[in-house]
Amino acid sequence: MLQQDETKQAAEYLRQVIPMLSQNKLAPTPINYSIFYCYLSGCSQALNDIIDSFISEKKPFTVLIMLELYEKFVNGGAAIAQQEKIHHSIEKVISDASEEVLQINNTAGEFDNTISKHAETLSTANDPQTTALVLQQIMQDTRNILKENQATQARIEETNSEIIQIKAELEEVKASAEKDSLTGLKNRGAFDKRIDDIVYTQKDPNTTLIILDIDHFKRINDNFGHLVGDRVIRYVSALLNQIIGPDHHIARYGGEEFAVILTGVPINDAKLLTEKTRVAMCNSKLQRKDSRETIGKVTLSAGIAILKPDDSVDSFIERADEALYKAKESGRNKVIISE
Ligand code: GH3
Ligand code: MG
Ligand code: MG
Repeated sequence: MLQQDETKQAAEYLRQVIPMLSQNKLAPTPINYSIFYCYLSGCSQALNDIIDSFISEKKPFTVLIMLELYEKFVNGGAAIAQQEKIHHSIEKVISDASEEVLQINNTAGEFDNTISKHAETLSTANDPQTTALVLQQIMQDTRNILKENQATQARIEETNSEIIQIKAELEEVKASAEKDSLTGLKNRGAFDKRIDDIVYTQKDPNTTLIILDIDHFKRINDNFGHLVGDRVIRYVSALLNQIIGPDHHIARYGGEEFAVILTGVPINDAKLLTEKTRVAMCNSKLQRKDSRETIGKVTLSAGIAILKPDDSVDSFIERADEALYKAKESGRNKVIISE
């Protein structure tokens, strides 16, 4: 019955979402759909306030705004729900485990008392019959405690497997919290943490920061639409993964910008890898998936900075940014190393 109600309710939302999307000039993409579904089902008051203010002030819902709302309220919301679930599981495991410890202590205490009593009786027993009786009782008590121990052991094993599961879920949450949803690369938050760690803690002298930016990306969006733009961003991500490899920190730094942190890699090799990526991109023949229409040559510019001993995070990023700016200024489709 409950499920039927939920299905009816979901169908009702669906009926309302589509007209809302078209009224707000939005394509019925999964991202836009989930945001307005969330709006109608009232999953977040903050989201509803933002959407209401956009509608009343007639502000356009751009692709970027929709992506931000999705990350914050839909995707992020799922992560929060998952974290809450894990939190409850941890609480349950802790309370089960402490009950178990209490139980073990009680049982051990009771057994101790019983054995002491038997020992006392034995010490004063002067006929074989009483001695045999007490020994029989000791054997029975021991059998009982062994049985109880087996049950405790089984419960401890169960708690252990719950802990293992929680650990795996926590790892999953951590990985998804660090992931950029469009590309699967590390997101900006993960990049900020990593660069902080490298600049202030690890200080590996062979550390380089590469910032790459897609050239004239706006034109791709303008000429072919944002969905094609998104695919180009994903294409660059795949190239970076393929050429630079998963052992290095590759992040989506912003819209169509990427940041790569290489540690333990000499600058010449860092430059070679960046050049390889640039050339691979320049030689790629991108086409629209649906019409096979060519997208034309898409190129990348990149700036590279080498970590200096007295660098702060800001100065390190600034040098890579300046080098990227020079690459853009001097005609794009270039890799420049900062002095
Ligand atoms: P330049 O060669 O100087 O880098 O030119 P550009 O057009 O690439 O530069 P600019 O940074 O001005 O434009 C980037 C555009 O990328 C603006 C924004 O609308 C778009 N953008 C940002 N994030 C996304 C995204 O996630 N998807 C899509 N499709 N477009 C995005
Ligand atoms: Mg650009
Ligand atoms: Mg840019």
